[in-house]
Amino acid sequence: MSTDDSARASLSLPSMAAALRRPAVRDAAAESARAAGRPPATSGATLMTRDFSLYYGATQALRAVSLEIPSTSVTAIIGPSGCGKSTLLRSFNRMNDMIPGVRTEGEIRFTGLDLRAPSTDVVELRRRVGMVFQRPNPFPKSIFENVAFGLHMKGGMNRGEIEGRVETSLRRAALWDEVRDRLDKSALQLSGGQQQRLCIARCLAVEPEVILMDEPASALDPSATARIEELVLELKRDYTIVVVTHNMQQAARISDRTAFMLTGTLVEYDETAFMFTSPKEKLTEEYITGRFG
Ligand code: ADP
Repeated sequence: MSTDDSARASLSLPSMAAALRRPAVRDAAAESARAAGRPPATSGATLMTRDFSLYYGATQALRAVSLEIPSTSVTAIIGPSGCGKSTLLRSFNRMNDMIPGVRTEGEIRFTGLDLRAPSTDVVELRRRVGMVFQRPNPFPKSIFENVAFGLHMKGGMNRGEIEGRVETSLRRAALWDEVRDRLDKSALQLSGGQQQRLCIARCLAVEPEVILMDEPASALDPSATARIEELVLELKRDYTIVVVTHNMQQAARISDRTAFMLTGTLVEYDETAFMFTSPKEKLTEEYITGRFG
């Protein structure tokens, strides 16, 4: 049992509700969708899947997943290890393409763009749909060059423009004040939490629309975790964020919607305020309250 799991073992729905930032407000249209067994409709979904399945060779990792992720919001993907959270996350910027033997079925779209189409420009897609990984992975370069990296790759900007974009990105990642006097120093000298914010700044520098985060705080201490959570809440004003997390309270604290997965299947997807107070599925309640996982 991991630390997260043992912490969860003592949870109850009321205690999860306490972690929510806002109370569940009943919305009539959303209620009738729920009554009909559908997740509440989203206006202008940024990401969507319909009956989307993914196979690693003979292993089916995603089973007919259908969901819509609205823009400028935080969506958490939760579920036990191996249930397909990272696979679903990576599907949104085709990171799974790099794995030999991967096959997909069904539909997956980003603002209407068919992500399964061979003609999709994957380099441009990954600029628009950026990714932050579990372990901070700064390059062995200066702080400045880490953030400027994608700008050099893209080209077309002069030195002044690059400097401006690096500063803006570091400010948005809530790191500027800590590094402004040592931009030429190695990124590897930063603490783990600072490195993760640097990776977020690197992602922001190329002006993405979506940020995919795969357990972005699980390698960090509690205060660095809190800073990442604050940053996520700040960034969702301008970006669509999808975050995989093992930490139920974190999902309750930072997400607007939660998707609960089990063995490749999307069991339940709803507004977090509802999922953590009155889940429709018994399995969701059992998972959220730590009875398995
Ligand atoms: P989670 O993120 O929920 O822990 P993953 O998406 O990593 O789950 O994995 C889902 C399933 O796909 C698991 O059964 C896992 O073993 C399998 N899987 C993940 N990555 C690969 C891979 N590169 N090759 C083969 N199987 C994989």
